[in-house]
Amino acid sequence: MRREILIIGGGIIGLAIAIELKSQGAAVTILCRDFAEGATHAAAGMLAPEAEEIPPSPMLDFCLASRALYPEWIQKLEALTGMNAGYWDCGILAPRYQVSEGSQWLDRAALLTHQSELGEDVVGGYWFAKDAQVDNRALAKVLWMAATALGVEIRTEINIERFAFDTNIHALETNQGRWKADHYILATGAWSQELLPIPVFPRKGQMLSVQVPDAVNLPLRQVLFGEAYIVPRQDGRIIVGATSENVGFQVGNTAIGIHTLLSNAIRLYPPIQHFALQEIWSGFRPATPDELPILGESPYENLTLATGHYRNGILLAPVTGSAIAQYVLTQKADPQLEAFHYSRFS
Ligand SMILES: Cc1cc2nc3c(=O)[nH]c(=O)nc-3n(C[C@H](O)[C@H](O)[C@H](O)COP(=O)(O)OP(=O)(O)OC[C@H]3O[C@@H](n4cnc5c(N)ncnc54)[C@H](O)[C@@H]3O)c2cc1C
Repeated sequence: MRREILIIGGGIIGLAIAIELKSQGAAVTILCRDFAEGATHAAAGMLAPEAEEIPPSPMLDFCLASRALYPEWIQKLEALTGMNAGYWDCGILAPRYQVSEGSQWLDRAALLTHQSELGEDVVGGYWFAKDAQVDNRALAKVLWMAATALGVEIRTEINIERFAFDTNIHALETNQGRWKADHYILATGAWSQELLPIPVFPRKGQMLSVQVPDAVNLPLRQVLFGEAYIVPRQDGRIIVGATSENVGFQVGNTAIGIHTLLSNAIRLYPPIQHFALQEIWSGFRPATPDELPILGESPYENLTLATGHYRNGILLAPVTGSAIAQYVLTQKADPQLEAFHYSRFS
């Protein structure tokens, strides 16, 4: 029997799960109130398990698995849609102002062969050749188009107000009536606590972008990851991020936020001071107390959790999509998901 599945939230996580479920024959609908408010739209798109210095752990394994899935995942999505998601296996350079060590450590001279015109305080840094990036906004469009092409129903401007439940979820109460399905998936990012008492809270990030004058001869050809991160896109935009603020859902940019980003970025890579300022924005990372996602089982048999991806939701989309789809379709515990069970907080 075909199962009807409702996914709440249409960010990168909801979309990635929907595509995987639909590809395996499920009937899937996404309900989302506002695509643009999601962290997916705000992110930098770094695929950076090494630059993020995630310690050896199930989380690191999960992140490395997802980074490895990226090239094929993107190829599949681009073939399905004929669109470009801006995946770039450009590597990440992590310049430092103090000497350090390790097998990936390069001194200043070696670093400058990777990237010229680094700030004069840079004494060396790390080179993470396998870290990469994707244009998260382009990818979100590709995912949306791929989901639609496969027959996923996507309903926008639907706000899920609460669950109707006893031991199971019976329905979703929304601003547009009741919605029912066999199974529900919570992929609501930073807003997850509005529906369920799980510890996911917003960690605000402010961002900006500049535009290089000559998009043919790009001055930067890899991500720089220091006090600020500087992410060059292939179309000549350069994304600069990000603040990390505990201010609830306070929308917008502040003067000090933008000042901090610009001064850190200019110290790291001085040429950026001459590029035209293009856009400023902010978004809300879905944070958890231990900074790990909450995935899989929930207190309700017919509700699966896929939230709390914090700083790494763009990176973790392919592996989350396949692991959660597998879990929903088979209802078998997946060892990969054990470390991310909601009960660790109870
Ligand atoms: C500034 C910034 C920089 C980042 N940089 C990176 C990066 O470089 N690399 C990386 O891997 N990750 C990065 N992240 C993290 C990444 O963006 C997130 O982890 C990821 O986007 C989470 O995706 P999501 O689908 O879970 O949530 P979201 O993208 O936030 O989507 C959730 C969706 O659910 C909808 N929703 C919520 N509640 C309801 C409701 N009750 N009813 C209906 N709809 C609802 C919202 O409207 C929203 O569209 C960054 C995040 C920020 C903010």
